[in-house]
Amino acid sequence: MTSGMSAELKTDLDELAAACRVLEMEGHGDRIWGHMALRDPDGRGFWMKRAGVALGEIHDSRDFVLLDFNGRKQAGDGKSHSEWPIHSEIMKKRPDVIASSHTHPFYACVYSACEEPLPTVVARSGIQPYLPPRYTDTSELIRKPEQGRAMAEALGDGTAVLLRNHGIVTCGTTIPEPVLVGIALEKMCREALVVGGSGFKWSWPSPEEMAAKRKGGIGIIKYDSLWAYYRRKLARAEALGEPLIGTQPVSMDSL
Ligand SMILES: [Zn+2]
Repeated sequence: MTSGMSAELKTDLDELAAACRVLEMEGHGDRIWGHMALRDPDGRGFWMKRAGVALGEIHDSRDFVLLDFNGRKQAGDGKSHSEWPIHSEIMKKRPDVIASSHTHPFYACVYSACEEPLPTVVARSGIQPYLPPRYTDTSELIRKPEQGRAMAEALGDGTAVLLRNHGIVTCGTTIPEPVLVGIALEKMCREALVVGGSGFKWSWPSPEEMAAKRKGGIGIIKYDSLWAYYRRKLARAEALGEPLIGTQPVSMDSL
């Protein structure tokens, strides 16, 4: 069903597949759950990871289905995840968003249950979300467009939102951005949980320091140096035979 796909779109979806595998490599995998999506360049909707396989098993452009903004499948083989409104509602509200991600990384899932705003323990580059909002309406799957809309409302014009007792959603203007934001957010949640449980007195970086860091990080997203590092790390993991990361497409017949 994906025949007729432009070479450019195929290249982008192959990159999106690598982005899914990077998420798996970086601890965002949760068995067969979690997904990424890419806005269709022709305005038909968005390409979403197919259901039934892990993020680490997403091999190339064939592992995505094209859904319109009402969740109806337009192209691609395989089933779609029921949480498609996460992506449709962000992309409808945010014309700047090209790619989005929803995952269940361990520390961010734990932090999603915490009612205090996520503090910054270690200040890093601008990829790190600053006081990310929390969507609190429900801990259930986001299967209805109205739930997706409320979640997109909570996200606002940011790049990350914690989903209460559930997981995280990230987005960006390039394919790598939601991955890099998600990795940074998971690290932040781990640091916050460790310092919070340590019993030590601790201090936050000042808002001025944080603003300077955020400004400095813009170049990293733009010039892709951090992304290039994760692609090299992924290539090494694949060469070594990391079991969480597949190097062959999963046959549709096995699902
Ligand atoms: Zn979920």
